[in-house]
Amino acid sequence: MRRALGCLLAAALLAGCGQAPVEPGVSRALALDRAARIDSIRYELSFSIPAEKTEPVTGSVSLSFNLRDRGPVQLDFREGADQLRQMTVNGKEQEIDYQDEHIIIHGLRKGRNFISLGFIPGDQALNRNDGYLYTLFVPALARTVFPCFDQPDLKAVFSLSLDIPEDWVAVSDGSLKTETVSEGRKRLTFNDTKPIPTYLFSFVTGRWQMAEETIDGFPMRFYYRETDPDKLAQIPEVFRQAAAAVRWMEDYTGIPFPFEKYDFIAIPGYQFGGMEHPGAIQFTDRRIFLNPDPTADNLLSRANLITHETAHMWFGDLVTMQWFDDVWTKEVFANWFASQMTAPLFPEVDAALSGFKQFNLPAYEEDRTAGSNAIKQRLGNLADAGLIYGNIVYDKAPVVMDMLAERMGPDAFRAGLQEYLRAFSFANADWSDLIAILDRRTEEDLAAWSRSWVSEKGMPVYEVDADGVLRQRDPWGRRLVWPQEVDVTRRDDATLLNVSGKAYGFFAHDSLSLAYLMDHIADFDKPLERISILANLNENYLDGRIPAYRFASFLADYIPSENEELLVSTALGYLGGLALHGPLSTTPTIEAIFSELAHNQALGKAQTSAFKTLAGFFQDPEQVDAIYRIWRDQAPWPGVKLNETDYTTLALELAVRLPERAAEILDAQRGRIGNTDRLREFDFVRPAVSPDKAVRDSVFQALLRAENRRHEPWVQTSLRFLNHPLRQAEALDYVRPALDVLLEVQRTGDIFFPKQWVAATLRGHDNPIATQTVEQFLSDHPDYPELLRNKVLQAAARGRRYDVSRDY
Ligand SMILES: [Zn+2]
Repeated sequence: MRRALGCLLAAALLAGCGQAPVEPGVSRALALDRAARIDSIRYELSFSIPAEKTEPVTGSVSLSFNLRDRGPVQLDFREGADQLRQMTVNGKEQEIDYQDEHIIIHGLRKGRNFISLGFIPGDQALNRNDGYLYTLFVPALARTVFPCFDQPDLKAVFSLSLDIPEDWVAVSDGSLKTETVSEGRKRLTFNDTKPIPTYLFSFVTGRWQMAEETIDGFPMRFYYRETDPDKLAQIPEVFRQAAAAVRWMEDYTGIPFPFEKYDFIAIPGYQFGGMEHPGAIQFTDRRIFLNPDPTADNLLSRANLITHETAHMWFGDLVTMQWFDDVWTKEVFANWFASQMTAPLFPEVDAALSGFKQFNLPAYEEDRTAGSNAIKQRLGNLADAGLIYGNIVYDKAPVVMDMLAERMGPDAFRAGLQEYLRAFSFANADWSDLIAILDRRTEEDLAAWSRSWVSEKGMPVYEVDADGVLRQRDPWGRRLVWPQEVDVTRRDDATLLNVSGKAYGFFAHDSLSLAYLMDHIADFDKPLERISILANLNENYLDGRIPAYRFASFLADYIPSENEELLVSTALGYLGGLALHGPLSTTPTIEAIFSELAHNQALGKAQTSAFKTLAGFFQDPEQVDAIYRIWRDQAPWPGVKLNETDYTTLALELAVRLPERAAEILDAQRGRIGNTDRLREFDFVRPAVSPDKAVRDSVFQALLRAENRRHEPWVQTSLRFLNHPLRQAEALDYVRPALDVLLEVQRTGDIFFPKQWVAATLRGHDNPIATQTVEQFLSDHPDYPELLRNKVLQAAARGRRYDVSRDY
């Protein structure tokens, strides 16, 4: 249907039929059309990069491909015709026909075609900083940098050459082939890549340090800008985890490491956790270089990041989804394998507990809200592909995949995955290809299972009725049935659901059963049981079934009695949530609880976490004074351990509470920061805590302009401080304008940024006026894009659970 309609519309614009209409972005129709007509693509790319980030980068591309007909072809280039230079098509110069983010190429022939073009790339996906830049094209930003077929199922071979300042280095997917230096410039060429999609092509250049190591015959290189010797001492551990992950994946899949090399870069101010460009994996430096005395959560987070990106070399890079609606098929395996690879690295950590904490808890956060989405979402245009990502894709999908593996049995599941990887190596596959392979290896009805768990949003509600029968209910009123087993435990008069932690959903308990769980949580031996109970209690609290004061006093008693660090940090997080969002936020109760916990040396590392959580919301004058002295003297309470990043955060928080001393505090903190990348971040964020509202207003106004939003993690921090809970009354004016630019933020920002932008804006507001502003915004835009609307609803939910049976 869509193809036929496209043909009619296109007829006026394009000579001949069979082509998709010209429209901005990369539409599904265009992608299908090109995938049917084009193959064997090769890009020869060349970039000249000046030392100064204000000077333009220039580039050229020689593109060749096979075409199965003679019709015109659309090349994607978002930046506009005025950034294009001289085009030749099969040796002949051709006038550039530019329409709606595309170059229309005419005069093509059946078979091999050659196109060359000069261009000035847009800066957005080049991530230019003083002294370094890195490209990050996922999901469809390659088209902001060079003319290309920017869709995941047109894999290509890339050949790169770079002209860079003499003292810079560079790393890309292919290994370095040649290097020559003359007149202050360095010219590098790189070997051809294996066939990869545009979103996996990348290069990083600038002034970087490099370490290399070979473990068990596997060579690796690590590029970084960190200067702190304590952090650099962690490099061997990073290599060890990376090499172990590669070996684990080779063993599980039966396929040797599929790419030429394994190099990685730890990037300051990076907007994601990591990105799996084969041969040039990018990581955020904050999760790779840990501060002194890392918590179990920090250590697990680093290992999960390294193993996640490594798993992508097979799932995502070797076999790639056809279209970004199936991006979850790569993320689910990356996360699912990451948790399995991480487990043997931390024998002291309970793997089941860690898995539940890593996946179920964040999945609930989005799945319970009115902004919930299905694991597999519809996607009409790659311009919106970034909005597909979220906790449902990253965290609910692995929970669901675990159920699938359990249904099939681990051996049949593994054999199915091996067949899938072999069948689609260096090619593309969608979810139906995988489920067809798995279906042949099981008696189970996977199609029915997939419908509820993968294709529909939301989670089941379970409740025991008056007759003691367990009932499943669809909170969205669709009468959907989710196939899964739920355990029911009867103790005294209490009926406890899902103590095992094996099932997924909302388990509504009566008050008697909730009281039993709060009184007896310590009696459950397995850490997985205790985290399942803790999550159940939190969901029931959010559902209004436990009063806030009761939940708070339970947590305050429970925390010192728990010996598993991951459970203590979870409980501290819930208590912190009560402080931020609960009705107690204005009373000293929670502050007193946290202060007591932060003084309790029996808590171990959790004592520091308690202190850091307290540092986010303290306001009692005595507490302010105590924390000021801790910051000034860099002398925390016995047992609490703070590092430079913590003191920077404390200084910013203190500046909010002590406006008359803000300048003095911030000047002193600035003097303590040694690393230049961290100094730049501090200088960026500092005005957002200014005591002068006019200064904060001007910061907010500046953030409404795209050119000031380049460093997304810095922008998030600024926005959070502008909308600080203690300044929310003065920040109410920011809510509506922040929502008004959200579409623009999506267009100009990276994939996780729209959600982070609304979350950072709304997090500090608990005033009903802010809620009304959000509702008004949504009702003013009844046709607002659904994917983006979901992000707003998720951020605005503040823990509220969506249920049609309730009045909304
Ligand atoms: Zn991933």
